Amino acid sequence: MKLIVVTGGVISGLGKGITTSSIAKILQQKGLKVNVIKIDPYINYDAGTMNPYQHGEVFVLDDGTEVDLDLGNYERFLDIPLNGENNITTGKVYKTVIERERKGEYLGKTVQIIPHITDEIKRRIYRVAKGSGADVVLVEVGGTVGDIESMPFLEALRQIGRELGEGNRLFVHTTLVPILDVVGEQKTKPTQHSVKELRAIGISPDIIVGRCKVPLTQETKEKISNFCDVPVEAVISAPDAKTSVYEVPMLFEEQNLSEYISKKLKIDGRKPDLVKWKEFVERLENPDDEVTIGVVGKYVNLKDSYLSHKEAFIHSSAFLKVRINIKWIDSENLENGREDLRGLHGILIPGGFGVRGTEGKIKAAKYARENKIPFLGICLGFQMAVVEFARNVLGYEDANSTEFFPDTKHPVIDLLPEQRGVNELGGTMRLGSQKVLINEDSKAYKLYGERIIYERHRHRYEVNESYINEIESHGMRFTGKDETGRKMEIFELEDHPFYMASQFHPEFKSRPLKPSRLHLGLAMAALEYKRSHTY
Ligand code: GLN
Repeated sequence: MKLIVVTGGVISGLGKGITTSSIAKILQQKGLKVNVIKIDPYINYDAGTMNPYQHGEVFVLDDGTEVDLDLGNYERFLDIPLNGENNITTGKVYKTVIERERKGEYLGKTVQIIPHITDEIKRRIYRVAKGSGADVVLVEVGGTVGDIESMPFLEALRQIGRELGEGNRLFVHTTLVPILDVVGEQKTKPTQHSVKELRAIGISPDIIVGRCKVPLTQETKEKISNFCDVPVEAVISAPDAKTSVYEVPMLFEEQNLSEYISKKLKIDGRKPDLVKWKEFVERLENPDDEVTIGVVGKYVNLKDSYLSHKEAFIHSSAFLKVRINIKWIDSENLENGREDLRGLHGILIPGGFGVRGTEGKIKAAKYARENKIPFLGICLGFQMAVVEFARNVLGYEDANSTEFFPDTKHPVIDLLPEQRGVNELGGTMRLGSQKVLINEDSKAYKLYGERIIYERHRHRYEVNESYINEIESHGMRFTGKDETGRKMEIFELEDHPFYMASQFHPEFKSRPLKPSRLHLGLAMAALEYKRSHTY
């Protein structure tokens, strides 16, 4: 087993996830089998109950585990499916250890952070390494070196590093290199301090990745090399990407990173083949046209809340060679008339929870339906479009979801039957990959080109079966259903160029070279709309 540990210093939000994904990508393109683990040192068992304003979007894996958005980055860069084991949290580790203690498995002993917690962390890392059969396992440690919460993890990784020995492990430290505007000089002192902190824990970095607005100068690289005791070729510059994060593997390769890693880890083999990846980035950077899509949500102040949607549009953008500008629209502002929907070529309503802002989403769904603007609703967006249809086409003024108004006379969206009696909120939704059957006579089929698809889910509510016939007889067709035929998965509107929605989240399976079909469908319809409305 070869191990690469990625830590972060100075500040959080440095793009460690992209650094990890990009290193993994260049190794994968050398023909190696890679796997990635994300460590989240928080006490939460998983990310499922957290608000997107905490750490950004909650990402969902095939097996239904709700995880940090970095696992989304890994999946997008590597196009390999990950599972719950790829995410280790303090909550998971402690839960296992405490359960074991209650069973009496440590009988007679005092249970301690070292060795019991650290052993459990190590066991989990080794298990992924063995289970995946990967040549190289990358472990990204969330948070910043020096955080109390990450101490047991760093200690466990230090121990694994020693067990594996020189030539089998590498420590990569990502830090911030700020520029002081007054003098315009790249400052290395924060990096020096952060490396000192790491050394105090017993870890010496082999590679230092310096995040900076611009490329690190040779002088900065030499300074970091000197002060932090790494060779100058192991100081890697990570400037802000021009168009997208997908440039980063190339940026790293220009600095011969894979060669350095291969030398240190005694891996031979060919140079990374980044031809397709480069082509993708070039298409992204050279669009022939552009469209603007409005995303109506309530967490729009933090763009990471809808990261997978943003990426799905980037993937579609490269596919079509059309720039997709996203206009973020706060659903509450829409509700109060402080924002409007003019000038858009398409509208997306993403998923969400809670009543706040739902009336704004309903307004957006109505506007798109009446003005024949391409529309895509995802999960809560799907549900709100059904509510809008019931109110304004079926004429049920008080139609709603029982999530928001349990006493509504027209509960067109209602709790999934299997959710009745579920009281705990963590990990109990209808989650993960589920089979969806698509009607051949539908736009959805044209987009997917398949009758059977698997998409990821995360919901408790669904279309109430007793309204289905009535809704369909008014022109909203359910063209995708689950295997039993009782759960509505996709609808599309007749007499509208593109008005579609899904109960599932296609954004989670969107990949650079395989964009989400529904986002792609929306983007194509938006382009069509723009072309037919420009004279
Ligand atoms: N709140 C809705 C439900 O639980 C939608 C969930 C979502 O958008 N992910 O069904």
